[in-house]
Amino acid sequence: MTDWDAQWRSALDEVRAAGRWRMRRELESAQGVNIRVDGRDYLSFCSNDYLGLAHDERLVSAAQQAMAQAGFGAGASHLVIGHHHYHHELEIALARFVGRERALLFSSGYMANLAVLSTLADTSSLVLGDKLNHASLIDGAKLSGARAQRYLHGDPRSLQQKIDRFGKAATSTFVISDGVFSMDGDLAPLPELVAVCAQNNACLVIDDAHGLGVLGEQGAGTLSHFGLSQAQVPVLIGTLGKALGSFGAFVAGSDALIELLIQKARPYIYTTALPPATAAATLAALKIAKEEAWRREILRQRIALFRHEAQHLGLRLMDSQTPIQPLLIGSNDAAMRLTTHLQHAGILVVAIRPPTVPEGSARLRITLSAQHSEDDVGRLLHALSEAKEQGLLT
Ligand SMILES: *Cc1c(COP(=O)(O)O)cnc(C)c1O
Repeated sequence: MTDWDAQWRSALDEVRAAGRWRMRRELESAQGVNIRVDGRDYLSFCSNDYLGLAHDERLVSAAQQAMAQAGFGAGASHLVIGHHHYHHELEIALARFVGRERALLFSSGYMANLAVLSTLADTSSLVLGDKLNHASLIDGAKLSGARAQRYLHGDPRSLQQKIDRFGKAATSTFVISDGVFSMDGDLAPLPELVAVCAQNNACLVIDDAHGLGVLGEQGAGTLSHFGLSQAQVPVLIGTLGKALGSFGAFVAGSDALIELLIQKARPYIYTTALPPATAAATLAALKIAKEEAWRREILRQRIALFRHEAQHLGLRLMDSQTPIQPLLIGSNDAAMRLTTHLQHAGILVVAIRPPTVPEGSARLRITLSAQHSEDDVGRLLHALSEAKEQGLLT
C-alpha cells in the first residue's frame, strides 16, 4: 500500500527546502490600505485594489439591493438558466467601456484565459507568449495543445524571430501578452506587437488585468492608453477583482469572437455563473472608476512621490510607471528578511519569489492605491531607509 501522506509530506519538504514555502495570512478587516491581519493593524502595500473600491459602500449597497431582488447564488451556468439580467447589463457596460462590440463575463481571469486560448487555438496553432506572462496565459496555451513558445520580455524582435522560426508549420498564430506585467509593473510594447502581428497575420491577445481602471481614457485600460482598436487587438481580457474592487473577468471583442466563446469555451459552459449581486457591484464599480478621475490622479501623484524618494534613497526600482512598484532584492531569504523588518514597523508588503518570478529575482511587490496618503508613502520610505541602514537592502 502506498503511504500517500508520506509522499505528500516529502513533496512539501522539497518546497520548504527550496525556500518557496507560502503562507496565508488571515485578513480580519475589509480590504484597504489600513487593514487588520492576524490580530495586528498594518499599513498595507499589497493589494491590487488600486482605486480603493473593494470596500466602497456603493459597491456594497449595489450588491445588497441586487441580493434583495435576485437572491444570492446564480443557481446554474449561463447557458442553462444562470444568466441573470445583472450579468447581461454588465456585459453591455463593459463592452462600451473598452470600446468593443461585445463582452462576455467569466468567473475569474484565470478561467477567461483558459477559455480564450483553448477555444481559439488548437494542436496545429502556434502560441507565442511574453516570457513574463501571467501563469493563467501559460496554462491556457497548454490546455489548447498548441505549440507554445516564449519570446524575450517586451521584445518585438524576439517575437519576430520566433515567428520566423516556428510560424510556417502552424495553421494559425496567436501572440499573447499581459498589458501591464503583474510582477514588474511595466507595459507591453503594444504598438510594436500590433505591427508584428499585422505583418505576420497573427492574432493579438492582451490580458489587461492590471491596466483596467488605472490607465487610459476614464480608466478604460492599456489599449485605450495606446489608442488601439478592436481590429488591432482582436481579443482583450479584463479582470474585475483588481482596480474595480469586485470579482470576475471578461473577454471583449467582435460579435463573432464572443459568440464562438459562448458556443465552445468549456471554462464558460461548464461552470456556474457568478452570483448576480457580484455583477451588480461591478456595475457600480465601473461607474465610479469612470467618473471619479481624481482616483487616478491621486494614484499618479503617489507613484511619482514614491519613485522620486526611492531613487533618492538609492533603492533598486524597476521600470514601471504603474501602481506596481517592485523593489528587486534577489535572494529569497533577503526578500523574506526585508518583509519581516517592514512587518515589525507595522507595514505589510509581500515578497514575491520563484516560481512566480524568475530564479534569483525575488522582490518586494509594493502596490500603491489611491487611498494611500502622502504620509503613508512616507512611512514606507522611512522603513525602507532604516532597512537600508541595517544592511537589509543593497
Ligand atoms: C490576476 C490576474 C489574472 C487572474 O485573474 P483572476 O480574476 O484573479 O482569476 C489573470 N491575468 C493577470 C495578468 C493577472 O494579474
